Amino acid sequence: MRTLGLLGGMSWESTQVYYRLINQGVAARLGGLHSAELRLASVDFAPIAAWQRAGEWGAAATRLGEVARQLRAAGAEGLLLATNTMHKVAGPVREAAGLPLLHIGDATGRALRAAGCRRAGLLGTRFTMEDSFLSGHLAEHHGVETVVPDAAEREDVHRIIYDELCRGSVRPDSRERYREIMTGLAHRGCEAIILGCTEITLLTPPDHPPEPDGWPLPLFDSTALHAHEAVQWMLEETTP
Ligand code: GLU
Repeated sequence: MRTLGLLGGMSWESTQVYYRLINQGVAARLGGLHSAELRLASVDFAPIAAWQRAGEWGAAATRLGEVARQLRAAGAEGLLLATNTMHKVAGPVREAAGLPLLHIGDATGRALRAAGCRRAGLLGTRFTMEDSFLSGHLAEHHGVETVVPDAAEREDVHRIIYDELCRGSVRPDSRERYREIMTGLAHRGCEAIILGCTEITLLTPPDHPPEPDGWPLPLFDSTALHAHEAVQWMLEETTP
């Protein structure tokens, strides 16, 4: 099995989902007492979030690059950045690490294409929805067009991520707000919704009791898709 460097803590609420899914995936494939060969580094998210707000992406990239090098020194053969937003600096982090990086946009893009979806609504942080690092990657490498909610809706999607989900708070009214926003995207011709932030899975867990009237569109959960690709890579079934 290849050893994966999991760079998490952004936030730790979603890193624990990755940790569980990757271990469950390896155990399901190999059976018995098998579990994942991981090197886990979990950063303090507060300074990273402050750099995001200040637009100091270079400082954030430098910090993540340092940690990625530590993962390599500890034996990691590949790197997984357990956040969509910090893929804004995926290039410099990958270079600093000198490791192959399992890009979250590839995990998501391949799943959308496999499902025949070419136009999807994108929910994530303000940075992910308003910058092009993820939407551009999906368009360029996977031929998937993305549509984002309007400005007031984006504000709510972003606020719920940082003020609630990253702090472990999962509220029914926020789930309802996400549902309304997804319905708006369905009316704008989207065929699916990308959960393009690794905490949104906390609002929409697959094992949650069925919603009264379901989600308005199929959901593509970047956390689950990224973890699934990680397992395939660790078991040497894919290259990044
Ligand atoms: N985990 C989130 C994401 O997937 C947001 C936190 C962060 O900014 O890294 O974008």
